[in-house]
Amino acid sequence: MILYKLKCANGHNFESWFGSSEIYEKLNKLGQIKCEFCDCNSIEKELMSPKVQVSSAEKSIGNNLLTKSHSEAEKIFREFREKIEKNTENVGRDFAKIARQIHEGNSPERSIIGEATAQETIDLIEDEIPITPLPWINRKTN
Ligand SMILES: [Zn+2]
Repeated sequence: MILYKLKCANGHNFESWFGSSEIYEKLNKLGQIKCEFCDCNSIEKELMSPKVQVSSAEKSIGNNLLTKSHSEAEKIFREFREKIEKNTENVGRDFAKIARQIHEGNSPERSIIGEATAQETIDLIEDEIPITPLPWINRKTN
């Protein structure tokens, strides 16, 4: 997952998560990325170059805070993941196929989780099939 700072043609700034830079490029080319404020789809990526200058004392405090918020974030993330995995059916690489079958009414309605290639993801979005990228890669499909 990559967090991009984005800017629309009208100068609004916002942030959005993408599975990869490749997915971002493809979605943007298709006009699928829209400004949160004015809905325009002329979006540009802002280059991020964080520059922070702190004294060594402040730096160690900063590091402690980072460590703390990181483990807190991991805990929330783990709970979220467990919840998802408990309530969904893992269909592995058949994800795109089965998501399409459910959407077309050819498979029972349910929540599924699985893997899709960038191209499959684009195809599903183009056909307006509701999918959500998950911020982890499932390795239990072999
Ligand atoms: Zn805008």
